[in-house]
Amino acid sequence: PANVQAHLITFRDLDAVVPAVPSQSHKWSAGVMVVGGSPGMRGSAAFGCAAAMAVGAGIVHLVTRAEPTEPVAHPQEVVVDRVESYFAEPVVTASRRFRSMVVGPGLGGSLQIGNFVRRLLIDSDCPVVLDADGINCFRDAGNLARTLSRRRASTVLTPHRGEFERVFGTIDGSPVEACRRAADESGAVVLLKGSPTIVADPRGSVALIAAGSAKLASAGTGDVLAGVIAGFLAQGMSAYEAAWAGAYLHGAAGASVSTGKVTATSLIEAIAHYYGGLDRVMP
Ligand code: AMP
Ligand code: MG
Repeated sequence: PANVQAHLITFRDLDAVVPAVPSQSHKWSAGVMVVGGSPGMRGSAAFGCAAAMAVGAGIVHLVTRAEPTEPVAHPQEVVVDRVESYFAEPVVTASRRFRSMVVGPGLGGSLQIGNFVRRLLIDSDCPVVLDADGINCFRDAGNLARTLSRRRASTVLTPHRGEFERVFGTIDGSPVEACRRAADESGAVVLLKGSPTIVADPRGSVALIAAGSAKLASAGTGDVLAGVIAGFLAQGMSAYEAAWAGAYLHGAAGASVSTGKVTATSLIEAIAHYYGGLDRVMP
């Protein structure tokens, strides 16, 4: 359709969907698994871990190829499983205990990693936030759609414009229409980062998030967003809801930081603070 109906997300929308923490919950009620990082790229996956914890994940496990000798940037609460190379089978088995996964930040790009990502997506029943190298390992939209069509759980894709255009083609018209079409083609919820950020559900809904600002244009903020969305997924939100709510929280918290540029670390703190201020008791 030429005219896509898009919903502009406001604070009220976020406030209405913030998950209440049930009194019977325990840490495994909202476990998140992050798969990413490689030698020299230790930060990205770590930011995802910390961000998931900031929005209520009970336990976070990191599967990573990052060198153990590298300074550890993730919170000490995160359980780190360091692997020599990524193999799908043990990760699929481990993923059964978790309610969501982040796959891709700092993962690296090789044929073997591409095969690992495909196998993991097909064999795991966990909702996945697929970001960065997790998206880059797909040749084109058809290739991605074939893998996603074999999944049993939901998927949120979180590309920035460059990642989006590599897979789905150059955006030469309306980014909203391009994003909607990408969701339709891939069968995933597609979150196209930018100003505004656009979230499209394969069933046709589109949300716009204008809460962010150029202060967010710094290394690692995208990894934080992936972690926030995974944290929400782990608490039972739908993929579409987790994506727009995560983008709104990420943008609004980022805008609230009073320094010039927002670092990923200060953004995580701001998110924890902002999130802690939301009333979780539904009227
Ligand atoms: P990435 O490119 O993966 O590191 O993600 C960057 C994050 O910062 C995304 O959530 C973007 O939406 C956000 N961001 C970067 N630049 C801007 C901007 N100029 N206005 C609003 N959000 C931005
Ligand atoms: Mg990124």
